[in-house]
Order: sequence, then structure tokens, then C-alpha cells
Amino acid sequence: MAIQKRSILLRDLRNYLTFLKDHGFLEIPSESGVSLELHPGTKEVPYSSIGTVKTSYMKTKKNISTKPNISIQNVREELGDCTRCNLHKDRKTIVFGSGNPHADLVFVGEGPGAEEDEQGFPFVGRAGRKLTEIIEKGMNLRRKEDTYICNIVKCRPPNNRDPKPDEIAACNPFLIRQLQAIRPKAIVALGKPAASTLLGRTVPIMKERGNWYEYEGIPLMLTLHPAYLLRSYTIENRRNVMNDMNKVLTKLKK
Ligand code: URA
Repeated sequence: MAIQKRSILLRDLRNYLTFLKDHGFLEIPSESGVSLELHPGTKEVPYSSIGTVKTSYMKTKKNISTKPNISIQNVREELGDCTRCNLHKDRKTIVFGSGNPHADLVFVGEGPGAEEDEQGFPFVGRAGRKLTEIIEKGMNLRRKEDTYICNIVKCRPPNNRDPKPDEIAACNPFLIRQLQAIRPKAIVALGKPAASTLLGRTVPIMKERGNWYEYEGIPLMLTLHPAYLLRSYTIENRRNVMNDMNKVLTKLKK
């Protein structure tokens, strides 16, 4: 019973701290407890914990969406020379996002790799070239003008390991605000970590890709990560991604 009460208190504390963070109180350090209930090293807990972060945001959505226009530059400035999680220790560059901040379509990936860390832009390596091909050849859109691209974490995880729950949680307020600043017509989550972070639960991506969900009222399509596509370059996977992107194109035309 006592343990149960403690976990409720911790959850409420975390939600409150996240609420403050969502409102721009960035002087509260991330060590303050936001990640207290996360369980680094496990795969199942993190996304649902991050979901709690999102839930707290959703509860405050009304206030936030009535805030005067938040711009992508504001969000970048808030992020600053971020040291909120351990990823800052090994990064060369913060990879915030690139493209048109007024785009109708946003792609959300997992995190920067070596080339992104070097250049400071998302999806500029091999997976990035595949993504560009999907956008430009497959969808007949212009990557720079018609889309905005970012990741769930803005700094490269060492050796390209998966981002840890506390790292995703520390970056989540900035992803939320990026999407809020852009308010696209549709979002595409590339791969399981992005899908799970945006939906706040562990997503079986092979099962759920190709379906529409909502992120803060914005249509959200889940699809395969281009790096996975390159690793498993089957006709079925390629066809599936193109079918998903065709659904996105139809949604954008509405
Ligand atoms: N490059 C990125 O910026 N994000 C990814 O998820 C993969 C490669």
C-alpha cells in the first residue's frame, strides 16, 4: 500500500514537473525527477512512461494551444546548448530539425547518426538518402520545401544505440513544441521508437504501420524506418512504405 502511494506521488510529481517544462520553465533541471519513474534498460516501460508525459501535456493542451504563436526558432532557443541528458556528452552537434517550419507534413525519426551529428541536420546519411528518395521520387514532394524532418532525440546516441527512456523523456518537451509550432496536416512516425514515443505506448510497428492515429489532433501515420527498409529491402516492405505514403498524400489533399 505504502509503495503504491509512493508511486502515485512520484507519478504526480513527474507530471507536474513535465507540466512546468511544457510551459517553458526550463530552469528546472531534468535530474529533478522527470525520469524518476522511468526504468532505463527495459523496453516496455519507457514509452508508457513517456506517454504519461504526453498525457500531462494533453491535460494542459487547452492552455498551451492558446499560447501566442510559438515559432520553431523559439523552440530552438529554449533548447539552447542542451545538457539535460547524458547524450550531450558525446555529441558534436545538436540536430534540431530541418525543412520548412510551415510544412504540411512532418517526419519524425529516432535520433541522429554519425553523419547527422557531423553536419547538424537530420537524415543526411544513408537512411536519409532513402528518406529523400521516398519523399521526392515516391511522393513527388520537395524535401526542403514541403516537409519538416526531426527526431525524438536531438543528440546522437553513442555507437548509434537506441535512445534510452530518460533521454527520450528529456527531449520530449521539445518534440512536442516543435510539432506544436508547425502544426502540420499530417505527421509520419518513422519506425518503432518514434511511433512509440508519439503514441505513448510500445507500438508493434510491423502490425500497426499503415494505420492512422492522432497526435494532439493531428493525423499520425506509422511507417517503417528507412534504415530498416534498407536492411530488409524486400518488395513487401517497399510496397508497404509506398502504400503508407500514398495514404499520407491523400490526407494532405483533403
Ligand atoms: N538519421 C536521423 O536523423 N534519424 C534517424 O532516425 C536515422 C538517421
